[in-house]
Order: sequence, then C-alpha cells, then structure tokens
Amino acid sequence: MSWFKRYLEYPVIYKILIGFVLGIIIGAIIGEPIAAIKPLGDLFIRLLKMIVAPIILFSLVIGAASISPARLGKVGIKIIVYYLVTSAVAVVIGIAMANVFRPGVGLQLAGEAKEVTVKPPPSMVEVLLNIIPTNPFAALMQGKVLQIIFFAIVLGIAIAYLRESRIERVRAAANTVYQIFDGLAECIYKIVRGVLQYAPIGVFALIGYVVAKYGPGVLGPLAIVVIALYVGLFIHIFLVYGGVLGAFKLSILTFLKGAREAMLTAFVTRSSSGTLPVTMTVADQNFRIGRSVYSFTLPLGATINMDGTAMYQAICTIFIANALGIPLGIDKQFIIVLTAVLASIGTAGVPGAGLIMLAMVLEAVGLPLTDPAVALAYSMIAGIDVILDMGRTMVNVTGDLTGTIIVAKTEGEIDLTSGVWSRSS
Ligand code: ASP
Repeated sequence: MSWFKRYLEYPVIYKILIGFVLGIIIGAIIGEPIAAIKPLGDLFIRLLKMIVAPIILFSLVIGAASISPARLGKVGIKIIVYYLVTSAVAVVIGIAMANVFRPGVGLQLAGEAKEVTVKPPPSMVEVLLNIIPTNPFAALMQGKVLQIIFFAIVLGIAIAYLRESRIERVRAAANTVYQIFDGLAECIYKIVRGVLQYAPIGVFALIGYVVAKYGPGVLGPLAIVVIALYVGLFIHIFLVYGGVLGAFKLSILTFLKGAREAMLTAFVTRSSSGTLPVTMTVADQNFRIGRSVYSFTLPLGATINMDGTAMYQAICTIFIANALGIPLGIDKQFIIVLTAVLASIGTAGVPGAGLIMLAMVLEAVGLPLTDPAVALAYSMIAGIDVILDMGRTMVNVTGDLTGTIIVAKTEGEIDLTSGVWSRSS
C-alpha cells in the first residue's frame, strides 16, 4: 500500500494538473472510446455536489454568528458593488473583443429556418421574494443557494444574540448549537480534502471526455467565438483582477497560485456552485480569509457573480447579430451591457445555464429566438457551448475569489502572513 500513501502525500494541486494534462493527451489520442470513463468524472461532480448545501449552511451559520449584523451588512454592500462593477467591465471587454475579432461576420444565416421556444424570464419582484424560503428544509433539499444563504444568516444572527443572553440556560444552549455547527463545518472541510484526493482522477475523466468529444474539428466557423472569449477572459483575469489586487498591494501571480485548485475544478466541472466546496477551502486554507467573510461572499458569488458568463453573453450576442448581417449600434451595445449583467446574475451556477439566459440578452437587442435565423445561429453556439462554458465558469469562480479577498482585506479579515501569501514572499 505504500504507493497509495505516496499518492496521498503528493501535493493535490500537482496531481490535479497531471490528471488534467494526461486527460487532454489521452482524450486526443483515443477519442470517443474514452467516454467509457466518463462515470469517473461524474463521480467527482456528484461528490462535490453532495457537499454544497451542507457547506453553505454550516459555515454561513458560523460566519453570521461571529460577525455583527451591521458589519455583515457592510460586507454585503461592498461585495455586491464589487460583483456588479466587475461584471459590467467583463461585458465591456466582451464587446471590445467582439468588435476586434468580429465573430460571425460573413456567415449570412438570415433566411434559414427552424423554431425554438423560450420561457419568459421571471419578474424582478418575484426574483427578490424568492430569496426567502417558504420552507428552509426544502431549500436545502433542492439546493436553492440564495434561500439557504438567507436562512443561514437569520439563524446565525439568532445564535449570536442568544449567546449573549442573560438567561444562562439559553446562553448555554446557544453555545452548544454554535459548537455543533462549528464541528459540522469542520467535518465538511475534512470531507472536501478527501474529495480533493480523488479530484485528479475526476479531472482526468472530465477533460479527456471533452477533448475526445469536442476536438478541434467541431469548432469550424465558431473558432473565432472561442478565441474572442478566451482572449477576453485572459484580459479580464490579468488586467481587471490583476489591477484590483495590485491596487490592494496583492500579487496576481500569488493569487493564481492559491486559486488554482478552484479554477481547474471550475474549468472541468463547468459549475460554480459545484466548485463551491473547493472555492471555500481555498479561501480558508490558501488565502487565510476569515470565515465570517468568505462563508457569505462565496456562496453569494457562486450564485450571482458571473463575469465570464456576462462576457460570453456579450460576445455571443454580437456573433449572432453578425451572423445575421445585422450590425448592432452603440445603443444596442449599451443594452447588452445592462442585460448581460442582469442575465449573468440570473444565471444558475450549473453547466450550460448561461446559454439559456443568453436568450434574454438576445431578446433585449431585438434578436428573439422565435426568428428562425437567430435560432439557427443560437444552435450553433449551443453545439460548442461546453468549450465556452469551461472558460467562463473558471472566470466566474476566479471573480468570486478576488472579490472576497478584496473585501476581506478592507475588513482586516485576511492573514497575509500565512497560507499562499507567506510562501511567495
Ligand atoms: N456554468 C456557469 C457557472 O456555473 C454558468 C454558465 O453556464 O454560464 O458558473
């Protein structure tokens, strides 16, 4: 069994990277038959999903119980402003990329036929009311992140107040509840570390499958869309996140070193919420951020902050307009900024969700999916969405982490003398 011990002792991130590279090579060599090992990848995703609802509940209850409501409100405002602004910047970069690469120009799709129906998006009031669960247990069972966040904060605040109670019995009981949640949160982190030991195999299977199924051949006229998005995402990471971190005297390279596990997991699972256990572990252990900050900002970010998705929606909208030979003027591009930010907020952190919300942006700029030519261009995107989804999800998660670090820094909730910060200096 010594090889197994050696495996366990080898640093997780290197194992994941090896799994990733081997997956690409082997997927490219054997092609479709690698689909036989896809269940190994699905196993990884299921293990992660298993932890999502409990980790949000347990750590956020503890997080909310250890921070004053006023400070929680301050953290909330800061992180929401950060999330909104960076998403809008991502859209602007996306539009710039689309204007440079001009994806879809010359495709002349107008006139082709096919019909698709779209569900109308829910109203704003409905969205806001929906944050409050009518049954918190149902919310946990269905993995409704915003509802879990709401309930966990309320419960955490109640515990915090009762721990100060003048009645001794109540104080003791509240302390017990606090310790139970604290213990449960620690158990979940232990489980995450176990799941990460399996990650290399899961990552190998997931990326191998994608490479085999979507080799370079399937891209065709969409290669430009892929390039435009990935160049945009790259710029967003280095210029925007790098710039913001730099403004707070933090190095983007150190950041990326600490964020790698989460970024790679997001890339292969294509799910921000599935990646959440890894993102939270990274915030805790690599970045040394206080739980009272990240237990709130990260689940929130995994649900509403999607910079990669916002950029993707901008680029795809312009691709579809170009493919139909309808150039979008500056007014329409402005509408893209507004609606892509909103659509990305409404996008669930699961694979392919951004594609569904893309319909909303298209509708807003006058390209409804009921138009057969729009539907055709849209289905072209759908055909390669997996490749776009990997990059955008990675950036979605990276954005949650940068925002969390910045807010933690302004709140004095980050220990820059340990974790990844100390190793680099
Ligand atoms: N897959 C993305 C995420 O989980 C959402 C999207 O499809 O854009 O962040």
